[in-house]
Amino acid sequence: RAKQRGRDTFHLFDPNHDRLLQVRHEQRQRFIDALNNHELRLYYQPQVDMRSGQVVGLEALIRWQHPEEGLLAPGQFLPTIDTTPLEVELGEWVIEQALRQLTIWQAQGIALPINVNISPTHLLVSNFSQRLDELLARHPNVPPAMLKLEVLESAAMHDIQAALQNMSRCQALGVSFAIDDFGTGFSSLTHLRQLPVSLIKIDQSFVRDMLSDQDDMAIVESVIYMANRFKRPMLAEGVETLEHAKALMALGCELAQGYGIARPMPAESLPTWLANWPSREEWNSLAEANP
Ligand code: C2E
Ligand code: MG
Ligand code: MG
Ligand code: MG
Repeated sequence: RAKQRGRDTFHLFDPNHDRLLQVRHEQRQRFIDALNNHELRLYYQPQVDMRSGQVVGLEALIRWQHPEEGLLAPGQFLPTIDTTPLEVELGEWVIEQALRQLTIWQAQGIALPINVNISPTHLLVSNFSQRLDELLARHPNVPPAMLKLEVLESAAMHDIQAALQNMSRCQALGVSFAIDDFGTGFSSLTHLRQLPVSLIKIDQSFVRDMLSDQDDMAIVESVIYMANRFKRPMLAEGVETLEHAKALMALGCELAQGYGIARPMPAESLPTWLANWPSREEWNSLAEANP
């Protein structure tokens, strides 16, 4: 077996490689501990309809409250579990946590759907919809329509049949899907048409520079045009300024998420944030004051 691997054989017995594997192993073990010790938490970022100012949903974003290193962003720890079974474990934990939070907020009169990010590995697991059904059954007070799953187009491209099957089954349970980071993968009209997707999220990398970079503006324009032709709602990520918001609305993109509206926040902070967010009337007079 080792012989067949040819050149890899060398690396296989390389002491540095051993050490690397050891480090990876320890990192993963540490992550399992974090899950068990409740060091992971979800932050929530509001999504707003820019026409009315209404908050239409929340995206759940994972954080690791590390006892020594402080609050870690997903980019600092998700890569260590990439394509391992831990991704499935984390994914189920996040869904469960979101369903718990939905129950709590529902009791407080806050009825906003939560979007959960699903990794490509997790989406393609064969019993995905069955497990989702079980998780939903544990939280009978939450209407499945309050849960949305954000998937990357690359996940669907990897195995379109499996993705299509899992997504259709989840949709039958009442759960809907959003395509995340749209424009960064190998997007094609065909896939958009095939997949049961009710929201298209334009990637923040295009939004960020759209006002200064003609190419990025062209991409944003095309995505909005396409999504409108397909009659799919779309949301712009990374909306940081009023200028961005205005330009996006002028192009026909009405939903937005970004630091210009709110940064991701712990669940406990949301009720106060919502109470301070302008009402519909206040929004309209703000819009008149800032044409
Ligand atoms: P994403 O799903 O595209 O999430 C949007 C990211 O953009 C978040 O970063 C958010 O904090 C950040 N963001 C929001 N508004 C702005 C803005 O105006 N400007 C800038 N510069 N950034 C903004 P975050 O929380 O670090 O998450 C990064 C990525 O990690 C997410 O990208 C998602 O792919 C992944 N991720 C987060 N939570 C989970 C999770 O629970 N499960 C899985 N599988 N992946 C997750
Ligand atoms: Mg997302
Ligand atoms: Mg995104
Ligand atoms: Mg992203």
